[in-house]
Amino acid sequence: MIKKDYLIKALDADKQVRVILASTTGVVEEAHIRHQTSATASAALGRVLTAALMMGSDLKGEDHALTLRVNGNGPAGPIVATVDAAGHGRALISVPQADLPPQAPGKLDVGGLVGQEGYLEVIRDMGLKQPFRGQVKLLSGEIAEDLAQYFMQSEQIPSLVALGVLVDTDLSIKAAGGLIIQAMPGAQDDLLQSLEENVGRLGPISDAIYRHESLEEVLAQVMEGIAYQQLDSKPLAFKCKCSRERLGVILSGLSEEELADICEKEGGLEITCNFCNQVYQFDQAEIDAYRSK
Ligand SMILES: [Zn+2]
Repeated sequence: MIKKDYLIKALDADKQVRVILASTTGVVEEAHIRHQTSATASAALGRVLTAALMMGSDLKGEDHALTLRVNGNGPAGPIVATVDAAGHGRALISVPQADLPPQAPGKLDVGGLVGQEGYLEVIRDMGLKQPFRGQVKLLSGEIAEDLAQYFMQSEQIPSLVALGVLVDTDLSIKAAGGLIIQAMPGAQDDLLQSLEENVGRLGPISDAIYRHESLEEVLAQVMEGIAYQQLDSKPLAFKCKCSRERLGVILSGLSEEELADICEKEGGLEITCNFCNQVYQFDQAEIDAYRSK
């Protein structure tokens, strides 16, 4: 079982395909604990967060960010994950306790929980005036298939995407991870076919993460019979950007009247970060300080 959360990238010797592999068991477990997700919600949230971490692996600047937003109008409501160049990700699911019976033993109904009536949206904020936005209609709400369609339609890159979250009977995360293979223009059909066969033999990606000790071992199976070089490796973590100072800004946005009202009724204020569920308490004195600003 792969214990570390990290991702690796590789290219075949002729630079026709690019491979990204990620193991995210700890990251998804932390998301599950913070949001108290049901089994199916853990799988949905984990797939979106894992996909965002892999897509964000190309970010360079310290203030750059990638957001993946999926809204299929299903019982889970919108799911949002935001990642930065350092491999830090945070994510939310609107209805964390929503759940559905499995489609088959061990097959969580992620598509049913996410829904199919809506969009997958990618927002790349590269520090420019306008962030880049791309959007596709959902196909299945299972995320991997929807993301492959996004790469094809929005970025014209034929891609194979696998995302998986194995949830244990006590709802903890047994294994989670993802695989993205992208074909460069002019990639040979026989190479793509070998890759497809290798990935088929590998089986579900979450099982592969569970069975192996490292992503390098999984990569060797994906690239079996193909000359390749591994490029970089990067640690991944669940980490939120919220802070007392950032949330204090919300207080300064409230009117004098609203703040006075809160103080009178509650004697203080609690603000919860939607992305990590951290609760910030603001007492009377702090609120008074914002009132006088
Ligand atoms: Zn937070």
